[in-house]
Amino acid sequence: MGNAKAFLTINRKEAGYRLVVDRIADFSEVEQTLNTEDRILQASRCMECGVPFCHWACPLGNIIPEWQDLLYKAKWFEAYSILSSTNNFPEFTGRICPALCEKSCVLNLEGQPLTVRENEAAIAEHAFQESYIKPQPPLIWTGEKVAIVGSGPSGLAAADMLNKKGYMVTIYEKDESIGGLLRLGIPDFKLNKGVIDRRLNLLEKEGIRFEVGIEVGKDIPAGKLLSQFDAVCLATGSAVPRDLSVEGRKLKGIHFALDFLKQQNRMVAGQVIDSDRQISAKNKRVLVIGGGDTGSDCVGTSIRQKARKVTQIEILPQPPEKYNPDTPWPYYPNILKTSSSHMEGCERRWSLATKRFIGENGNVNGVEVVEVEWLKDENGRFFMNETTKTEIISAELVLLSIGFMHPEQEGLLNELGVRYDVRGNVEAIRPNESSVAGVFVAGDATLGAGLVVRAIDSGRKAAEAIAKYLEIKNN
Ligand SMILES: Cc1cc2nc3c(=O)[nH]c(=O)nc-3n(C[C@H](O)[C@H](O)[C@H](O)COP(=O)(O)OP(=O)(O)OC[C@H]3O[C@@H](n4cnc5c(N)ncnc54)[C@H](O)[C@@H]3O)c2cc1C
Repeated sequence: MGNAKAFLTINRKEAGYRLVVDRIADFSEVEQTLNTEDRILQASRCMECGVPFCHWACPLGNIIPEWQDLLYKAKWFEAYSILSSTNNFPEFTGRICPALCEKSCVLNLEGQPLTVRENEAAIAEHAFQESYIKPQPPLIWTGEKVAIVGSGPSGLAAADMLNKKGYMVTIYEKDESIGGLLRLGIPDFKLNKGVIDRRLNLLEKEGIRFEVGIEVGKDIPAGKLLSQFDAVCLATGSAVPRDLSVEGRKLKGIHFALDFLKQQNRMVAGQVIDSDRQISAKNKRVLVIGGGDTGSDCVGTSIRQKARKVTQIEILPQPPEKYNPDTPWPYYPNILKTSSSHMEGCERRWSLATKRFIGENGNVNGVEVVEVEWLKDENGRFFMNETTKTEIISAELVLLSIGFMHPEQEGLLNELGVRYDVRGNVEAIRPNESSVAGVFVAGDATLGAGLVVRAIDSGRKAAEAIAKYLEIKNN
C-alpha cells in the first residue's frame, strides 16, 4: 500500500464527460481522460483491503488492489501485466463496464469509491501507447482446430485463450464485421470502434482466423464445422428481442432498439443506408420503451440524430436516488442510474405500462400508457396493478428496448440439436459444455443477455473446458 492515508485526503475525481453541446454534435466518445498525475493520485486512494470486495464483485476476478498499487508507483508495465492476466480486453471494460467493483469498494460506504474502471482504461491505453502489447503467437501449435461461432466479447475471449494454448482457431461471424454487440450494439459515443480494430489486429497477427459474413447453419451447415473441427464453441449472443403484442404494433415507426442502434453504428462506420430503410429520429418525438442501458443508448443516439423530443418510460417504479435498503453494500445497488445520454436532455418516467399504439395512415403518432402500482402479495412478492390513469404520449418513432429473450434457435442451434434451459438459452450440462459432444457454449447464448465483463469471463471458461476436453480426447 503506497500511501496509507490517501483515501482520507484525496477525493474521488472522475474524468467526466465532454460538454453536452459539443458531444451531441458527433458520435465520438463522451468520456474524457484525467492527466497522469491525477490518475496516479486516484490509484493511491485504494486501501488494499484485507478482504478486497472489489475483487469479489468482479466477474473476472480482476486483482484490483495489486494494479492500483502498481499504478500509484507508476509501474505501468507491471500494472498491465497483472490486469491482463485476468482480463483479455481491459480497453473494452475500462470504457463500458458498469463497474460492479466500484459499487462494492469499501470507500463506496462513503459514496466515494475508487475510480477502478477509469484506472483500468488508463493502464490499457498506456500499455498500447508504449507498445507493451505486442502480438505473441504461440510457440507451438497443437495441430487441433477449434471453430467459434460469433465474434462478440465471449467468442473473442475464448479465441484468445485457445490460440494462446496453441489451438488453431477460426471465428465465424454472420455480420460484415467482427465484434458482436461491441461493434454493432454499443454506440460509438461509449466505445470508439477503433479500439476494437486495434485489438483485432493483434489477434489476427497472433494467428486467429476471422471469417465474416458467414452465418453458420445457413451459409455453411453446422455439421460441416463438427466434421472439420475438433471442437466448436457457440458464442452467438442472445439476439431475440422481447416484443410488445398490443394493439397497433404493426404501425410504421415502431422498431426494436437494436435495429435502430445497429443502423447508426453502421452509418458511423461509413456505410450508406438507403433512405427508405433508414430508422431516423430527426425532427421526431421519440418514445423509448424500457428504462435500461439499451434504452439509454437509444436516447443518446436519438439526440445525436436531432430528435425533437426524447422520452423514456419504464414499467418498474423509480428506484431510490442514493441508497436502497434492498440492495445494501457490497451488492450492486438498485438505485437510479443517470447515464451521459440522460444528461443530454431526455424526459424519464416510471411505473408506466404500454396499452396500445395509435396511428394515422399506417404511421405511429402516439402511445397510450397506463400508470401502474407495484403492490406486495401475502408472500411478500411484488405484483403489478393497473390504475385508471391513462394518457397518450405523442411519438412518431417508438423504440422497443424491453430486453432479449434468448439466442436465435432457428438454424444453427436447432440443427445441432442442443438442449435449451427453461429460458431458451443453450443449456450447459457441465460448465460451458452443451448437450452435444464437442460443442461448447459461451456468453449471452448460455447466460442470457448480460454484460461484456461476464461474456469475457464466460469465454475464458469455455476455452478452459475445450482445452480439457481435447486433452482427455487425445489421451
Ligand atoms: C445496445 C446494447 C448496449 C450494451 N451496452 C453495454 C455496456 O455498456 N456495458 C456492458 O458491459 N454490456 C453492454 N451490453 C451487453 C453486452 O454487449 C453483451 O452482454 C455482450 O456483447 C455479449 O457478448 P457475446 O459474445 O455473448 O454475444 P454478442 O456480443 O451478442 O455476439 C454474438 C455474435 O454472434 C454472431 N452470430 C450469431 N449467430 C451466428 C451464426 N449462426 N453464425 C455466425 N455468427 C453468428 C452475431 O452476429 C454476433 O456478432 C449492451 C448490449 C446492448 C444490446
